[in-house]
This record gives sequence, structure tokens and C-alpha cells, in this order.
Amino acid sequence: MTDIENVLRLVRPNIASLKPYSTARDEYKGAIGIRLDANENPFDEGYNRYPSTPLKERIRTLASKKKNIGTEHIFLGNGSDEAIDLCYRVFCTPGKDNAIGIAPSYGMYSVCADINDVEYRTVPLGQNFSLPIEDLLAAADEHSKLLFLCSPNNPTANAFPSEELLEVVRRFEGIVVVDEAYIDFSSTQSLLPKLDDYPNLIILQTFSKAYGLAGLRIGMAFAAPQIIQLFRNVKYPYNIGADTLELAEKLLQKDIKEQVDIILKERARLSKELPKFPCVKQVYPSDANFLLVQVTQPKELYRYLLEGGIIVRDRSSIPACKGCLRITVGTPDENERLLSLLGNINE
Ligand SMILES: *Cc1c(COP(=O)(O)O)cnc(C)c1O
Repeated sequence: MTDIENVLRLVRPNIASLKPYSTARDEYKGAIGIRLDANENPFDEGYNRYPSTPLKERIRTLASKKKNIGTEHIFLGNGSDEAIDLCYRVFCTPGKDNAIGIAPSYGMYSVCADINDVEYRTVPLGQNFSLPIEDLLAAADEHSKLLFLCSPNNPTANAFPSEELLEVVRRFEGIVVVDEAYIDFSSTQSLLPKLDDYPNLIILQTFSKAYGLAGLRIGMAFAAPQIIQLFRNVKYPYNIGADTLELAEKLLQKDIKEQVDIILKERARLSKELPKFPCVKQVYPSDANFLLVQVTQPKELYRYLLEGGIIVRDRSSIPACKGCLRITVGTPDENERLLSLLGNINE
């Protein structure tokens, strides 16, 4: 699907014809002295005004410079979770359309499908968590609007080869959403430079992981300008708070390389050390900031670590992750504590 006109045919009719909410400040962009247009409290104690559009535009420009892509390709959301929900609201008619995703993968794709009354069809990953391209395409019918691919994938931690992701984008006759939440930790490249070639591609990234701003709630979707405009039409008018925007402007200036390098070094260290413990059966290769670790007794080990003051994610009930815990890479001290707890078992 190489034509944006074809892509826009996938949009829900009520969204295609939507007249979006517009504020007085959207309609008048000049300088303003006295603001009597928005029923705000006039006494300035820091947050009496709705978030400023120019500030949000500055963040888009910052993101544009960081990601080397035009602002017309960027949507800023209340976390990338907002963008996941918007994909459904823009493209899927409740009770009629469906979406497809790999299993296991990030839970929000199916939760948002349920919320929007959209059927979510899952296709198990292949051998060694490989992308099941033919099975994914075979799961589609004329009502399949979205196909979610998470790369690097949560919780399996592997990234899929770009060429395989792009093959799905080429062959699926709907929107392919590639979630790159963990791309800054991966040896594979982002698909962002490919965006112009694939109008049915939406890429999600977030400031919650490598950028260390999970508490702010700010994420991004990248897509063709026409799709970005639809997202902007459907989102709540002020979807990101003023405090988040102000802090983002300050905190996004910092360079993440130093922290990412430490996390990658620690990931390598844990990958090497963990298999030495008798309770660890295998550590899967990781392109993310976490490790999927298969252990002999997941429930018992989870409890043991909790009692030692460390919480990890128990993924052992997921069929393809039998016996697995998902462990985030922490600071060097935190990882040391994890290793020493494991070393104390049966002593
Ligand atoms: C953590 C995570 C997100 C959530 O991102 P927010 O921007 O914090 O909403 C999205 N996708 C995946 C795969 C994640 O693991």
C-alpha cells in the first residue's frame, strides 16, 4: 500500500468527517495581552492557564531535531499509550473492525482493543520469538484495520529485522503500528527514515524508557502528515499538562547516551552472570532495557526476590514465556543486589 489516498480510505467515516473542537487560541495566533476567552481563573499562581500551544510546538520542534524528522510527522501524546488508543479510535469501527498482533506482546494493544469494542486477533511468535509473517497476514480479512508489531518486543526482548517488519508493512492492507518504545537500547535501526516510503506505517516511541521521563507522561507517534492531523483532531484539546510540557522542554535537552551506555553495559553483565546460578535456566538475548529470564521455579523465585526487597515481573503464566521472569536492568548497585540475593539461595 504505497498511496496515502488508499490509506485514508481506512479511516472511520465519522472521524474522516469530524469537525474538531477548536479553542479561541487555536483560531487567533497573534500576541495576546489580556485573556478573557477561556474562563480561566485570572489570578496567576503558576497553573491558572490552559497549557500553551506555542510551548507544545516547541516540544514538537525539539522532538523533530532529536529524531531528525519534520514536525508535520510528529504527534505528541499523553504517553505513547494515548497514541495506541487513538489508532483504534481513528481507524476501527467498534463491533465491526478488527486488529492483529503478535503474542506475547505489550498488553495495551489488546486492552485498548477491548475498550474500543474491537476484536484483537493474536498470532503466536515463531521459533526463537521470530516474526510469523505469513500467519500474521493470513489472520487478516477485509475488516482488519490495524496490525501491531512491537520491536524490540515486550516481554520477549528481541528486535525483529527491519526488512521483515517492512515486508509486513508492504503486504498488509491496513495500518501497521510499529512500537519502538525500546529502540534506544537496540542494535537495530529505527524505521523512522522509512516513513516517507510507507504511508500505512505508524511508529510509536516514548520518553518513558531511555529518556527517563516515565513520570511526565509524554510519548510520540510518527506517521504521514494526514494521519498526524487525524490524531490531533481526535485527541482531547489539552492532552498534555503544562507542567509536563515545561519539564519536558528542560529535560529533553539532556543527552541520554551516558545513561544508555551504562544500562547496556549492565545488561551485558547480567546476561553473563545470571546463567551461572542454578535457578536460572536461560537468559534470552535482549535488545531492550530488560531481560527475559527462564528459571526453574518462577513463583518461588519471584517471592524470594520480593522478600529481599526486589520486585520483578512474573511472566511465567504466558504460554511462550513458560518459567520466565522479566527483569528490568537497574543501576549497577541495584543489579549487584539482585546478583547477591541470587547467590544466597540455599545458603
Ligand atoms: C512502556 C511501553 C510503552 C508505554 O509508553 P508510555 O509512553 O509510557 O505510555 C509503550 N509500548 C511498549 C512496548 C512499552 O513497553
